[in-house]
Amino acid sequence: MTTPLSFAVIGHPVAHSRSPEIHEAFAAQFGIDLTYERLDAEPEAFEISVQRFFDQGGTGLNVTVPFKERAWQMANTHLSPRARDAGAVNTLWIANEQIHGCNTDGVGLVTDLKRLSMPVNGANLMILGAGGAARGVLGPLLAAGAAHIAVLNRTAQRARDLIENWLLTHPNDKLKLQSGGFEGDTDWPAPDLVINATSSSLQGEALALPAALWSSNASAYDMMYGAQPTTFMQQAHEAGSRQIADGLGMLVGQASESFRLWHGKTPAIEPVVSQIRAQLRTHVR
Ligand code: NDP
Repeated sequence: MTTPLSFAVIGHPVAHSRSPEIHEAFAAQFGIDLTYERLDAEPEAFEISVQRFFDQGGTGLNVTVPFKERAWQMANTHLSPRARDAGAVNTLWIANEQIHGCNTDGVGLVTDLKRLSMPVNGANLMILGAGGAARGVLGPLLAAGAAHIAVLNRTAQRARDLIENWLLTHPNDKLKLQSGGFEGDTDWPAPDLVINATSSSLQGEALALPAALWSSNASAYDMMYGAQPTTFMQQAHEAGSRQIADGLGMLVGQASESFRLWHGKTPAIEPVVSQIRAQLRTHVR
């Protein structure tokens, strides 16, 4: 009998993570025998925990809050171009006894926007937030053909820094990118799609956006997800937005890309989004 391949998601806390159910559902699509557990690492023990996991024969790790930047450091001589751009890693594996890292969050978002027929290619996008998630999706959105991206953040300087850093390595994107705060200058193209990459919905807080930033023709996507529509989704609805989605499909999409990196097979996303959505609604873990 062969030993099942061993995977895990590492974070702190990690009990809320849906990754085990998602990867088990993907594996069932191909008849792959694997185990996938949750590893809660104390902040001071992250690197040791990762090393121990691989030393004990583990095949792949997903990394979640607050360790994505430290995972990037651990894999820093074997990063994918996407991970290098993102400055953070959510997928680790071993090849030739070296730890390799990639960031699949941006691919997950783009896959989900396409699944939902939301505007990306040739579209004007607005990203709200300038943290790790915003930085991770910038490259994949540009690669998917976004015509223009305005990154706006509560702390405007952080949005400016994000774009300035990006342009250091991608100077040809200059005309496609703008940055700013939630107030003041509104000198950017009307967005076809507004993406919430802040954690404001987590706190149940509506974003303090001037009405002029929001067009009723714009679609709205919240990277957050939950059993109920998020605060940002309610805000979009009130602003008249007609196409609104949460980030559950992004979560399943990023997992699908991790699965492809580890197993060389691309799983179907739709049935797994439906499965996890049903679990969220019934509060089943
Ligand atoms: P960070 O902590 O790196 O950044 C948080 C961002 O949210 C900052 O831009 C911060 O602004 C902003 N923010 C927080 N609270 C508020 C508020 N009340 N009003 C306005 N802005 C606020 O987080 P991440 O970038 O890692 O994650 C952002 C969100 O994306 C999280 O909700 C996370 O769950 C989600 N996410 C979802 C994924 C998925 O697969 N669906 C994948 C990755 C992330 P400031 O700089 O001013 O503090």
